[in-house]
Amino acid sequence: METTKKKIVIAGAGFGGITAALFLNKAFSRNPKLRREYQIIIVNNHHSHLYTPAIYEIAAIPQGRHALDYVKSSITIPLADIFHRTLVEWRERQIVAIDRIKKELRFDNDETLGYEYLVLALGAETSYFNIPGAKEHSYPLKTFADAVKLQTEGSGLGLFLVRNIIARHGGSVAVDTEEGKGSTFSFTLPLNEDHVPENNGGQEEFIEGLSV
Ligand SMILES: Cc1cc2nc3c(=O)[nH]c(=O)nc-3n(C[C@H](O)[C@H](O)[C@H](O)COP(=O)(O)OP(=O)(O)OC[C@H]3O[C@@H](n4cnc5c(N)ncnc54)[C@H](O)[C@@H]3O)c2cc1C
Repeated sequence: METTKKKIVIAGAGFGGITAALFLNKAFSRNPKLRREYQIIIVNNHHSHLYTPAIYEIAAIPQGRHALDYVKSSITIPLADIFHRTLVEWRERQIVAIDRIKKELRFDNDETLGYEYLVLALGAETSYFNIPGAKEHSYPLKTFADAVKLQTEGSGLGLFLVRNIIARHGGSVAVDTEEGKGSTFSFTLPLNEDHVPENNGGQEEFIEGLSV
């Protein structure tokens, strides 16, 4: 809702943005003058907060929509729930530019939002620090989409680790999936030490495992 109040805008609803918004909410609830003069608006490019410490769970589950949806609901927390009964307004927008002279944000739909104060909490991007091969031979794990990619294109983090450990001991892993019913995982291991590969700790093998 548009008001004449000055705006404190928080860009990004990650850990930093949400903490800032809830701190401000606390201060506002104790101070009527602040409430009269300012409004708090948090802007995020998604309507939910992504709880990053748990996104490995998506990457680690065996493929299957049911499990993915179940895990998704515990990792993405709706901003509507977080800011319910607070003085914080939230908006789902993709910020494309910040004009510090005009003091306004520009969104991808060409809308703008002016601010008196801006809290920048847009997070970071994955960096490869110019390490040769790092980008080509790795999967980043930072966003929800990254985790789904790792789960569907890779073999899932847990399965990936199992596959590599078994392979290093000369065994193999097999998966038998029946849609709508589930998957059966089995592995073989050699009984005779002669069948264990000599170079069983090689970096190349480990990296190759990523492209299962
Ligand atoms: C897999 C993983 C596990 C982690 N585990 C832990 C842990 O156990 N403990 C711990 O302390 N830290 C952990 N971290 C680190 C932690 O997630 C970060 O330090 C923290 O999220 C940084 O907070 P932030 O607010 O700066 O950025 P973020 O939390 O990344 O928030 C940035 C927000 O800005 C939004 N945004 C970005 N660009 C735009 C745009 N253009 N327009 C609109 N919105 C935008 C993003 O969608 C996001 O919601 C983990 C990180 C990862 C990737």
